[in-house]
Amino acid sequence: MWDFETEPEFQAQLDWIDQFVRAEVEPLDHLLGNQWNIHDPRFQKLARPLQAKVRERGLWACHLGPELGGKGYGQVKLALMNELFGRSRFGPIIFGAQAPDTGNAEILAHYGTPEQKQRFLEPLLANEIVSCFSMTEPQGGADPLVFTTSAVPDGDEWVINGEKWFSSNARYAAFFIVMAVTDPDASPYRRMSMFIVPAETPGVEIIRNLSFYGEPESSHAYMRYADVRVPAENMLGGRGDAFVVAQTRLGGGRLHHAMRTIAQARRALEMMCERALSRVTKGEVLAQKQMVQEKIADSWIQLRQFRLLVLETAWMIDKHHDYKKVRKNIAAVKAAMPGVLHDIASRALHLHGSLGISNEMPFADWVINSFHVGLADGPTEVHKITVAREVLKEFDPSEKLFPDYHLPAEEARALDLYGELLDELGN
Ligand SMILES: Cc1cc2nc3c(=O)[nH]c(=O)nc-3n(C[C@H](O)[C@H](O)[C@H](O)COP(=O)(O)OP(=O)(O)OC[C@H]3O[C@@H](n4cnc5c(N)ncnc54)[C@H](O)[C@@H]3O)c2cc1C
Repeated sequence: MWDFETEPEFQAQLDWIDQFVRAEVEPLDHLLGNQWNIHDPRFQKLARPLQAKVRERGLWACHLGPELGGKGYGQVKLALMNELFGRSRFGPIIFGAQAPDTGNAEILAHYGTPEQKQRFLEPLLANEIVSCFSMTEPQGGADPLVFTTSAVPDGDEWVINGEKWFSSNARYAAFFIVMAVTDPDASPYRRMSMFIVPAETPGVEIIRNLSFYGEPESSHAYMRYADVRVPAENMLGGRGDAFVVAQTRLGGGRLHHAMRTIAQARRALEMMCERALSRVTKGEVLAQKQMVQEKIADSWIQLRQFRLLVLETAWMIDKHHDYKKVRKNIAAVKAAMPGVLHDIASRALHLHGSLGISNEMPFADWVINSFHVGLADGPTEVHKITVAREVLKEFDPSEKLFPDYHLPAEEARALDLYGELLDELGN
């Protein structure tokens, strides 16, 4: 059964989200700083009432199942919501669906003990606190096998030592989820475990905060963990399970990034169209020029194709409830995402001329953001490798000298099958 329609009750919710985000949430993007700075009095004053409206509407933290206070809508509905609220920097946090907290909540819900859930998950879901995922190390992020941060048992504690790189939101986080080597002699994918480290633990140090180009505030931390002691019960998942835990987190996380990327690319396309219909050059609006039309058509097609891939992937997750079965699709979405945003934001920038490249328009931020989504959660190349490997699994090599689809062989097979019938016709 194929169906591209949204049921009327949910469409009414989507319509509400669309107008609410444009009218009330987007203005926060221009007034407030970092959206994870939730204890800022201005956040409390302006953002909390909007979060309350979302809760009243029953749309808070919809990525969660009902057992955790969410709606359990599933990924398709989540995609349709994200592509609306993702247009605003504050959209995700107003809807209780911001990275990295969504992913961290997902693994706490999945692997956390009842005590861990009570202490870390519940306040996280209520957005009373925010969190940090601290995995990448300065010597390499794309290859976790080079990580050296260690956790050594000492009585009923673990002692963590090492450095982490680009740990987003560390400065606001109440706790960190840290990946550390616990079993150096185990097989490569069983060497590491995950730990929950409360921010106030002695030895947790932000060496410095970095930003990526154009970010108003530096909030990606270069971290040092120096003799950080956590109780044994702060291990998240089993010993040696860090890769499995990370994959659980990153599968959904990558898809949610893609959903929000659709929102940003769509916004760029909307702006491009308005500008093309408004700006007059050489006696006609830009929209009448064929090279401009090509940019609009290419952007629409690219966005539409990408959106369909994202929705198909979301639908597959809802069907299988197993990220492993949807690996190829998730990797494909992740690999396609930077190009879509880059191309559409660049075209929108270019069509706006000098205004487009200026600091009074958001296009340059979005172009840079396309590099962000191409790096965070693993670089594009790594995901393309996954897609190719998964695609290749569906095929077998030929043992013959020439390929099975070699035309002479195909013709011979066709004649074997139908030759006698043709002979009967005397042809
Ligand atoms: C905005 C932002 C936020 C982030 N937030 C977090 C966070 O909260 N927590 C966290 O732990 N990490 C975070 N990261 C880090 C992110 O996960 C890493 O940047 C990413 O995994 C790549 O690692 P790297 O930067 O060390 O690049 P490297 O590993 O040095 O890779 C550099 C380049 O080498 C090439 N390359 C790498 N591997 C291959 C390959 N197999 N084949 C071909 N080419 C390859 C690619 O071009 C790649 O971009 C964040 C990154 C960004 C940009």
